[in-house]
Amino acid sequence: MKLQRPDYAYMNGKIIPWDEATIHIGCEAATRGLNVFEGLKGYWYKDGRFGIVFLERHFKRLQRSAKLMYIPCPWTYKEFENAVFELVGTLLNKEKDMWMRPTLFVVEGHWGEGTKADLVITAYNQDKEEPSPIKVGVSSWQRAIDPVLPARIKTSTNYQIGRFARIDGRTRGFQDMILLNQWGRVAEATASCVIMVRDGVIYTPPATEGALESITIDFVEEIAKSLNIEFIRRPIDRTELLISDEVCICGTLAELVPVEQIDTVKLNPETPILSKIRKKFYNIVRGMEEHPEFEVSFVPESKNKKI
Ligand code: PMP
Repeated sequence: MKLQRPDYAYMNGKIIPWDEATIHIGCEAATRGLNVFEGLKGYWYKDGRFGIVFLERHFKRLQRSAKLMYIPCPWTYKEFENAVFELVGTLLNKEKDMWMRPTLFVVEGHWGEGTKADLVITAYNQDKEEPSPIKVGVSSWQRAIDPVLPARIKTSTNYQIGRFARIDGRTRGFQDMILLNQWGRVAEATASCVIMVRDGVIYTPPATEGALESITIDFVEEIAKSLNIEFIRRPIDRTELLISDEVCICGTLAELVPVEQIDTVKLNPETPILSKIRKKFYNIVRGMEEHPEFEVSFVPESKNKKI
């Protein structure tokens, strides 16, 4: 998978050409990988508008990550929203959906003194296709525990282990990897959470098992509730995942991706519960179905411009 090079990025309060979006090698964003970020997703709606899902929930999680990393986040939600709209409006492509990465890069300060961050946003086109089932492995790399590297902070350093796991998984023919926690139980995948079904009930490990506080999981829970499907957060053993009836990985970018195989164990291709949830999720985020808990922010027509 090659990283795209869009024409523009948002940095220092304005839209700038991609090649000018650089940070200094001496700042803590470079020397310690010090940043917090979010992954957003936007879709075209039938009425011609472009909507970004759960933008405010993502901003709140960015604020929580920044707070835990002692990174000041002086932007209001409206300023954040406006910055996202500015960049997205500049890069929109009718043929593609989009994913966006707003990041607070620490550009000033040293060891927590005088810390200052810049809000940088990059955005990338994404194909409109529904994700196909994937094979995953269980990684020998583990999700760190809270006093080592808290999984609930969405910071780049947390992704080093996921990168190891993906490199290992790729050589074994897996599209993603499951990370276990220090107790050998399921934490999450490298960039998404895990849900499984047993006897008609959906289960997911809580954040205290080493998972990110996922916005998609919260919404899947709300969808399950509206379909009268029980949804429970509790620890999941590795062996329990292998004998479960259905498994999906879930995240803003990934949406809900069915898992057809874990290590050498093939799962049942029939997925009656998660197919129902997936279909509803797919339709709701694209505005084809309504849900009382769903929130979408439309890019105003005035921002929709090519530079
Ligand atoms: N875990 C990790 C490590 C992730 O990177 C993501 C994607 N942000 C998730 C879980 C899923 O979170 P969300 O549903 O909020 O996108």
